[in-house]
Amino acid sequence: MRRTVLVATLAAAATALVMSTAGTGSRNAPADDRSAAAVSGALVDLTHRFNARTIYWPTAKRFRLTVVSHGHTEAGFFYAANNYEAAEHGGTHVDSPIHFARGRQTTDEIPLRNLVGRAVVIDVSNRAAANRDYLVNPGDFRRWEQANGRIPRRSIVLLRTGWGRFWPNAERYMGTADRGEDAVPNLHFPGLHPRGARWLVRNRDVKAVGIDTASIDYGQSTLFRTHQILGAANVPVFENLANLGRLPLRGFSVVALPMKIDRGSGGPLRAIAVIGGAPAGGRLAGGTG
Ligand SMILES: [Zn+2]
Repeated sequence: MRRTVLVATLAAAATALVMSTAGTGSRNAPADDRSAAAVSGALVDLTHRFNARTIYWPTAKRFRLTVVSHGHTEAGFFYAANNYEAAEHGGTHVDSPIHFARGRQTTDEIPLRNLVGRAVVIDVSNRAAANRDYLVNPGDFRRWEQANGRIPRRSIVLLRTGWGRFWPNAERYMGTADRGEDAVPNLHFPGLHPRGARWLVRNRDVKAVGIDTASIDYGQSTLFRTHQILGAANVPVFENLANLGRLPLRGFSVVALPMKIDRGSGGPLRAIAVIGGAPAGGRLAGGTG
C-alpha cells in the first residue's frame, strides 16, 4: 500500500517535471504525458522554434514558412499544409563533420551513436558574462573535473555560455542584428577554443559537442579552427541549443536527431535531454542508420 502510494507520487512528480520543463515545445503538448515520464524521467527540450524570428548566420537564408492550405476543403474536411525553406545552418542545428573538413561525414552519414548518449554541461556563463568573446579552454574542463569527476569517455559535452537567454534578440545574441557580409566582422559571442576542441577529442573521445551560441567557434573567429578540428575527428556539433540552463551538470542523456539530409553539411535539429533515466548507453538496434 505504502509502496503503491510512493510510486504514484513519483509518477505524478515526474509528470509535473515534464510539464514544467517541456519549454519551447509545450504549446500544443497533450495534457497527460505520464507514459513518457514513466519511461524516461524528466524531458527538456533543447530546441528553439523555427519561425521568421529564428536566428541565422548574417549571410544565410532565413527560415520561411509558406502556407499552402489552412482551412476546409470542398470535400468538407480540414486540411493544413505548408512549404518551408531555410539554410542548413541556423536555428537549433547540427554541423556535420564535412562542414569544415573535406571527406568527413555528411549529415546522413553521422552514426546514430554519436547523436544519443550520456552528456555533461560545462558552465562558463560567469566568465562569458564578463567577456562576450570568451573561449572555453582546457582549464574549464579541468576545473569541471575537479568538482564533478572525470568527463566520461564517449560523452556528449554541452557548453553553457548563458547566451540562450538572449534568444531571439540578434543584437544581443550575435553582437549585431545586421545582415550580409559586412555584418560578419561585428559578430561577438563566446565559443570553444581550438585547444579545448583538441583536448576533448584527444583526451575524452567525445561523441559530439553542443553550445548555446550561433557557432562553436566564437563570433570573432575568421579561420574556424575549432570547426576544423572537430570535423576532422568526425565529431558533430550542435549549435543554438536552447534551455541549457535547465540541465544539471551531469546525470542526463541527450537525444539530438537532425533531419537526414542526404549529403548535407548540417541540418535542422530536434534535441532533447532526458534527465536521470534511459537512454544512457547509446546502444541502438538496427546499425548506424
Ligand atoms: Zn552550423
